[in-house]
Amino acid sequence: MKNIRNFCIIAHIDHGKSTLADRLLDYTGAVTEREKQNQLLDNMDLERERGITIKSHAIQMDYIHNGEHYILNLIDTPGHVDFSYEVSRSIAACEGALLVVDAAQSIQAQTISNLYLALENDLEIIPVLNKVDLPSANPEEVTDDIVDLLGCDPSEVIPASAKTGIGIEEILTAIIDRVPAPKGNPDEPLQALIFDSVYNPFRGVETYFRVINGKIKKGQHIKFIATGKDYYADEVGTLKLKQQPKQEINAGDVGYLITGIKEAKEVKVGDTITDAKNPTQNAIGGFEDVKPMVFAGIYPVDTEDYEELRTSMEKLQLNDASLVFQPESSAALGFGFRCGFLGMLHLEIIQERLEREFDMTVITTVPNVSYYAYTNKNPDEIVIVNNPTDLPEPSTLNRVEEPFIKASIITKADFVGPVMSLCIEKRGQITNQTYLTQERVELTFDMPLAEIVFDFYDRLKSVSRGYASFDYAPIGMRESKLVRVDILLNSQQVDALSALIHADNAYDIGKKMCEKLKELIPRQQFDIPVQAAIGAKIIARETIKALRKDVTAKCYGGDISRKRKLLEKQKKGKKRMRAVGNVEIPQQAFMAVLKLN
Ligand code: GDP
Ligand code: MG
Repeated sequence: MKNIRNFCIIAHIDHGKSTLADRLLDYTGAVTEREKQNQLLDNMDLERERGITIKSHAIQMDYIHNGEHYILNLIDTPGHVDFSYEVSRSIAACEGALLVVDAAQSIQAQTISNLYLALENDLEIIPVLNKVDLPSANPEEVTDDIVDLLGCDPSEVIPASAKTGIGIEEILTAIIDRVPAPKGNPDEPLQALIFDSVYNPFRGVETYFRVINGKIKKGQHIKFIATGKDYYADEVGTLKLKQQPKQEINAGDVGYLITGIKEAKEVKVGDTITDAKNPTQNAIGGFEDVKPMVFAGIYPVDTEDYEELRTSMEKLQLNDASLVFQPESSAALGFGFRCGFLGMLHLEIIQERLEREFDMTVITTVPNVSYYAYTNKNPDEIVIVNNPTDLPEPSTLNRVEEPFIKASIITKADFVGPVMSLCIEKRGQITNQTYLTQERVELTFDMPLAEIVFDFYDRLKSVSRGYASFDYAPIGMRESKLVRVDILLNSQQVDALSALIHADNAYDIGKKMCEKLKELIPRQQFDIPVQAAIGAKIIARETIKALRKDVTAKCYGGDISRKRKLLEKQKKGKKRMRAVGNVEIPQQAFMAVLKLN
């Protein structure tokens, strides 16, 4: 055990975490030439294209230092706030963390939030000043920033380039010298932390764990404490680029487990694995069920595809336990599903996977957060509102609560004004302002989560000309004055366009929504009134003017081939229109409320 080191890499997005991981794998020979591929750890196509790590993984390296053989377990963490619980569990499986900071960008919001997570878990922090090869690098200044942040000695900061290989050996040496070897007792009852799981269509769910105490053996009868389920360990092993089956994995080490579990949701990140007959008395603390933060309706473009969509969603859920969905119906869109996501990025990923992997064309409705409503009849009973149309009648409503977050923004001093105005516009209340250096300021706000979902990232980037980074954490529910703004097209209410809006902004947003819909909905053969309403009261109105008569619809001639249905499907996919009553509504219109400015 004294020659094992468990570590993770934490960084703000794009500071070079994945590149550094690759370089470490290269250097230790964990990867053969043939297996080499850029950013190996990001092994889903989507992750690679978007340059983000969605699921965390682990990989083991062998390294000889001063004639001794060391085992280095690198536990990769996802780099996006949508997946922050997974980050916290991966961190809990380590004793040390490489804190990677871009030598041109310096400390950013996720540098700090990840650092706090690492410190909460008592990890040894090794600061790495990455990208020193860049002409725009500011090594002295950024080293000072890091020293200020950590209270460490400048000599502890390792200058590196994950691109050219500068500093890689020093980093490996630091991992061995500075990260403590795991503690833990191999003779105690099994206690292992689940920090990740991956769905494999051929082998079922692979569970990644860190053994804290005891050992896990092939064939052992084991139990997952939080879910209460028991299994047999069909296979255990360590993770090189390929899995290496082993007879047992000991305290301090990291490995994978295969038990024939078929559904991702049976395995919960943060759960404790123990022996079924001789269980540990100590479940590992901090377990929480991951809760979806953002909800949206997903509907097939073609109503006939409903069953196919259900099958596709079920398959997706097998390998993504954080996706939740239940059937819903909309007067406008027919049958579909109300889906819960960890955040907007997760929503986009699911939508994209439905299209790529399952060839589905879907309409996604306006995302919303989950509200708590209370009625006058039962003022203590929570009515969970995951869809604006579920909000109880205004006359019966006692109060509504919405989820709030603590937002942390790091920006340049020059942009403090515009960033503050934006946050205040988004109903934020400033709680703190700290100058990290003369140039760089950290602002913290309490804000409604709903305001982040709506175009916040883009606005923040534009008001700060890209010099702002952002992170957030939920802080609970707070009472809010919310009303439902409905949209009527051609005098017909389109439920899928309803949104819950703060009363003070309802008129303004209702008006902007009408304008936006007018812009997005193609003109048709007749005038289409677009109206926004609160209850029976119309608060805004626009008209989409009819096309002039000479523009006649094109007629399709020629023969009907068997490919016709396919072609139509493709065409629909491209146009992604949905007829509601006699009005054709394009997909963007369902998202219009997100893009009002
Ligand atoms: P991550 O989001 O933290 O995983 O960052 P990546 O590893 O994906 O790196 C983000 C970008 O920075 C990529 O374009 C990398 O090629 C580049 N990059 C990473 N490390 C270095 C470095 O040391 N020097 C330079 N010049 N570019 C780097
Ligand atoms: Mg990455």
